[in-house]
Amino acid sequence: MNRNLVSIVSGGTRGIGSQIRDELLRRGHSVIFIGSTEDSVNRNQPQINLNQGQFVKGISINFQEWPTWVKSPWHQVIREAGQLATELQSDDLMAGIDKKNYRLDTLVNCAGITQTKSAIKTGPGDMASIMNVNFMSSVSLTQLVIKQMIRNSTVDGKRGRIVNIASILGDIRADVTVPGTAIYSASKAAVIQYNRVLSEELARWKIDVQTISPALVESTDMIQTLDHETLQKLRQRVGNGRLTTIQGILAEMGLSQE
Ligand code: NDP
Repeated sequence: MNRNLVSIVSGGTRGIGSQIRDELLRRGHSVIFIGSTEDSVNRNQPQINLNQGQFVKGISINFQEWPTWVKSPWHQVIREAGQLATELQSDDLMAGIDKKNYRLDTLVNCAGITQTKSAIKTGPGDMASIMNVNFMSSVSLTQLVIKQMIRNSTVDGKRGRIVNIASILGDIRADVTVPGTAIYSASKAAVIQYNRVLSEELARWKIDVQTISPALVESTDMIQTLDHETLQKLRQRVGNGRLTTIQGILAEMGLSQE
């Protein structure tokens, strides 16, 4: 059954998203992963042997360019077991895929960028980029998949699943603030509250909405590029807890035994 399931992973070229992508592929899903450029998608292809009938599609979309990207054709490359890659341009995430035989089952919104300056020094362009990549990409990708999911028949009582990777910094209940992350934290708070309402809206169609709020995952590029002072504060304030490893995040998604 898994070989007919399709999962979409934004931020699937590196870090947490690429590990989620690879675990879904190991479980037999076909995967559509999204990166910011053609070069990034080409360089970061999964190194996993595909089974017969399983495909991997890489799409390049620069989420900073919201809302323009939503209705533009994106460059897409499909690879299937034992077949040459197919290249196409389309604004349909499932373009080139036989929709009768493959079920668009899961969307994982994982693309994200961090903040590099304090709130008062962050310019409007950087503010827009953080909100567009971290928040608006989730909202628009959800809209793009939802019509297809609603048409799915139910499997185990569900028509589909949307997973959003937020952050402990956006979770008001966690009560953590770190100077230098104001806009990033606000973008993640927006994701969390959006998901709470979305979950209620989509319940009638039996589509699950899950929010995961990781703490500090030190192995990722995002954390490696932070300035020393912000990193120290993050270590002091959010360094502990289960969601500090990619294995912990996969377990939260039901993708590992941890
Ligand atoms: P990385 O920096 O390792 O990877 C970021 C991913 O987002 C890449 O795949 C990148 O694509 C994609 N991305 C960035 N900018 C754009 C853009 N303009 N358009 C399209 N895609 C873009 O991040 P992490 O793996 O560390 O983080 C993944 C998610 O987890 C993020 O949402 C982050 O906020 C969240 N998170 C991370 C934590 C951590 O400690 N690392 C803690 C809490 C939450 P490309 O490579 O093609 O540029």
